[in-house]
Amino acid sequence: MTKQYDLIAIGAGSGGLSVAERAAKYGAKCAVVEAKRIGGTCVNLGCVPKKVMWYGAGIAHTLHDAADYGFDIDVKGFSWETLKRQRDDYVGGINSWYHTYLKDSDIDEITGYARFADAHTLDVDGEQLSADHIVIASGSYPVVPSVPGAEYGITSDGFFALEALPQRVAVVGSGYIAVEIAGLLNAMGADVTMLLRGEQLLRPFDAMLRECLMEEMISAGINIVTSSRIGEVRKAANGKLDLICADTGQSIGRFDQLLWAIGRAPASSGLDLANAFVTTDEAGYIPTDAFQNTNVPNIYAVGDVTGRAQLTPVAIAAARRLADRLFGGMSERRLDYEVIPTVVFSHPPIATVGLTESEAREIHGDAVKIYQSRFTPMYHAFTRHQSKMAMKLVTVGAREKVIGCHVIGTGADEMLQGFAVAIRMGATKLDLDDTIAIHPTAAEELVTMR
Ligand SMILES: Cc1cc2nc3c(=O)[nH]c(=O)nc-3n(C[C@H](O)[C@H](O)[C@H](O)COP(=O)(O)OP(=O)(O)OC[C@H]3O[C@@H](n4cnc5c(N)ncnc54)[C@H](O)[C@@H]3O)c2cc1C
Repeated sequence: MTKQYDLIAIGAGSGGLSVAERAAKYGAKCAVVEAKRIGGTCVNLGCVPKKVMWYGAGIAHTLHDAADYGFDIDVKGFSWETLKRQRDDYVGGINSWYHTYLKDSDIDEITGYARFADAHTLDVDGEQLSADHIVIASGSYPVVPSVPGAEYGITSDGFFALEALPQRVAVVGSGYIAVEIAGLLNAMGADVTMLLRGEQLLRPFDAMLRECLMEEMISAGINIVTSSRIGEVRKAANGKLDLICADTGQSIGRFDQLLWAIGRAPASSGLDLANAFVTTDEAGYIPTDAFQNTNVPNIYAVGDVTGRAQLTPVAIAAARRLADRLFGGMSERRLDYEVIPTVVFSHPPIATVGLTESEAREIHGDAVKIYQSRFTPMYHAFTRHQSKMAMKLVTVGAREKVIGCHVIGTGADEMLQGFAVAIRMGATKLDLDDTIAIHPTAAEELVTMR
């Protein structure tokens, strides 16, 4: 017999859980279908385990600086195994919490792989489920290049399964996941080489952030090889990996581990979308309008599978607003995709919101005025390991409305949320200047810049 729902979410990740949770609060009968682990990428293979590792890496940095603050510490070692166990237990606790939460919220949790039978019906491993509204929140997965020997490498998914710290690691990629994993492996003691296809890290970010991060990573001991397109991976008899550059034939190698961090692809190809007449773009992303509608009236998509701002809070916000619209009587409720703040958990971290300087100049030309500053934060005043802080405000027009704010340095990750509120509300440079500084902090620089 076909089970009938008001709403079914495909995927119990950030987007799927959020839309079902909010819809159920309005009294809708909901189900979430999950093929793997509840919580999706963020909880199991993304933000959460990554941030735990980042905290661990931060402790490694602090231990290095401890002697400069007068502490005579004898660090006897580092147990990857302990950190991984604690991390996995923590993630397991979140998984359990979600199972209970769904039960308590009267949302059916269905384990299996969902495929469309028609626009209102899903087939989940042979079971038929039907709903008035179906939300595709199937997320994305890490891409592996199609070069010989690519299978010797792992992706970010495999990184979280590592049972030991690899000694010599190649990280291929230049995006935020590549940067984050390279940074934390380096902090924990691995010998890390990053291989970039182009010349820069974090290409869409403001140039100041990119350049500062490159300097910081090199000074931390990460080997960065630019303009290297990997054409083949060879495994030696002793298990070590050699990467062969496609253009030059140069071999870079003897790595214990290779990590591909070259991008993600939408998890849409297995959904049998054609049975429901849902269309995708060439890359497989599901296009949605401003209200998360797909091309089929009762089918919606949220989160990574839409290809828009692939971040957990974006998936959650779009999903909640969709439920508000469908079941909460808020017919115009939708997510504004402008001004999305985000953090890269690099070492040091990056926080960014709004337009980069070059984007602003392209749109607003000479009306753009930039304020920027680069300095040594007080924490590093006398540490042997030096790390700089850099900040930039992008303003436009005579009122100097702030349309971009970019920060790299210790504490940037916790600094930007409040500034993002101000920027969203239309803050001008004068508003920042009129705000009393909090002293002594690095953040005060953002309200005292000349
Ligand atoms: C290493 C890494 C670090 C990250 N760090 C951050 C961060 O610090 N901050 C941040 O905001 N974002 C971060 N992200 C991005 C964030 O995890 C994603 O943007 C977010 O999880 C997207 O949510 P979603 O609901 O679209 O998809 P997901 O969370 O991926 O959930 C999709 C779920 O659908 C399931 N599924 C797919 N197809 C089917 C099917 N046919 N039937 C049943 N189930 C199916 C999948 O198994 C999965 O559980 C990170 C991502 C990675 C990989």
